Amino acid sequence: MPIFEYVCDDCGERYEQIVLSKSTKISCPKCESSKHTIQLSVFAAPANSSKSSNGGSSASGAPSGGGCCGGACGCRN
Ligand SMILES: [Zn+2]
Repeated sequence: MPIFEYVCDDCGERYEQIVLSKSTKISCPKCESSKHTIQLSVFAAPANSSKSSNGGSSASGAPSGGGCCGGACGCRN
């Protein structure tokens, strides 16, 4: 499960938080402020996964050989 590192915008406290979902409420353990900056030093999974899926879909049509066998020409059958 993803563990994100945060820096509190109010007091500068650094803390880590396990984020089970995007609705997980993040608050500083020191001052309980909800203002924070995410440090993506551990995982950058959300940004990378969406980026690679976009790149993968566009790249799949780009190669000449792979594009032909992708199903459009029916050569796999
Ligand atoms: Zn704080």
